[in-house]
Amino acid sequence: MGFDVAAAREAFPILQRQVNGKPLIYLDSAASAQKPRAVIDAMRSAMESSYANVHRGLHTLANETTDAYEAARRSVASFIGAAEGEIVFTKGATEGINLVAAGLGARLQPGDEILLTEMEHHANIVPWHFLRERLGVVLRFVPVTDQGELDLAAYQDLLGPRTRLVAFTHMSNVLGTVNPAQRLTEMAHAAGALVLVDGCQAVVHQPVDVRELGADFYVFSGHKLYGPTGIGVLYGRAAALADLPPYQGGGEMIAQVSLEAITYADPPHRFEAGTPPILEAIGLGAAIEWLKGFDRQAIAEHEQRLYARTLEGLAGANWLKVIGEAPGKGAILSFLVDGAHAHDVAQILDRYGVAVRAGAHCAEPLMKRFGVTSSARASFGLYNTEAEADAFVEALTKTQAFFA
Ligand code: PLP
Repeated sequence: MGFDVAAAREAFPILQRQVNGKPLIYLDSAASAQKPRAVIDAMRSAMESSYANVHRGLHTLANETTDAYEAARRSVASFIGAAEGEIVFTKGATEGINLVAAGLGARLQPGDEILLTEMEHHANIVPWHFLRERLGVVLRFVPVTDQGELDLAAYQDLLGPRTRLVAFTHMSNVLGTVNPAQRLTEMAHAAGALVLVDGCQAVVHQPVDVRELGADFYVFSGHKLYGPTGIGVLYGRAAALADLPPYQGGGEMIAQVSLEAITYADPPHRFEAGTPPILEAIGLGAAIEWLKGFDRQAIAEHEQRLYARTLEGLAGANWLKVIGEAPGKGAILSFLVDGAHAHDVAQILDRYGVAVRAGAHCAEPLMKRFGVTSSARASFGLYNTEAEADAFVEALTKTQAFFA
């Protein structure tokens, strides 16, 4: 079906604006993507014409809003090949991982092992450190090669009889590496461990089928997927979710409450205590339905072309160091400019209207692995164009001249 970037750009009002007198070139989608009109309209229209609390009411607006909220759950479920009851709405990927960590923590013993990788976002490290601090659980980390891939032989060796859970990112937010998630999952399951996959970046750039993947848990955030902030998804295989104790207590997550005892609702409601992010769920549903209108493979190829073109434009730049060169990697370019701090690079690029991220990208262990404390990162979204890739190369070359 192909992908028409010019038509897709029309859907994003923000792309019309200028920054510092230049057309905005937004290369920070890995941090948070811009929003198409479909999302903005869905959220506004919900507030303007059909808004109430969900699941509690007996009046028309409450029923309509509940229907819209649950329709969003169905959109998410069909997007990743899950059943409706396997989709828990959270406030983001971070909350999804914390939810699983807290639930599993209730069952772990001192000396039990959790296997992570060196390329994790802090969201997939810190909740597990809580279990180390509080329970004496042992954390192990799969090393990353110089190219930015997981060392699979080391992974095999690290899987042991005490490994209770393996948690890894499907696609690195720094290196762009796409990990062989299905294979990693099979190996973990063969060792008797549960698997949690951080899909924050991968779900944006490639079709994901959680059944095919086989993982027990898969998390992602709405705001990177062209949806709003404040909403995320925890997919849990039905049996894995059913096994998990509740995370927070409050309204909606119970079956019955008395002064002496409580019983809990079944998943997913067991994990959605209190009033959920209703408008945000509706916005995420709209983002997903909008995305379903595209050939996602064609979008992935478009993004790959942008990445390749950028690298080509920078070929021969002896002042540039790229971090992360795994074969098949996604369209995320982390880089260092000789003699320049990444923050300064980002600030100067901003003068040219180019938005990139700079810092440790919430991945300090990975930065340490590559012997740096920060890098700049240009990340491509479906709305970026070849002309923007060229303009980025030109702006970066001019930026570098300040430090030469
Ligand atoms: N995991 C990865 C790979 C990410 O890139 C991010 C966000 O940058 C997160 C987790 C955390 O997502 P959030 O802050 O939306 O919970």
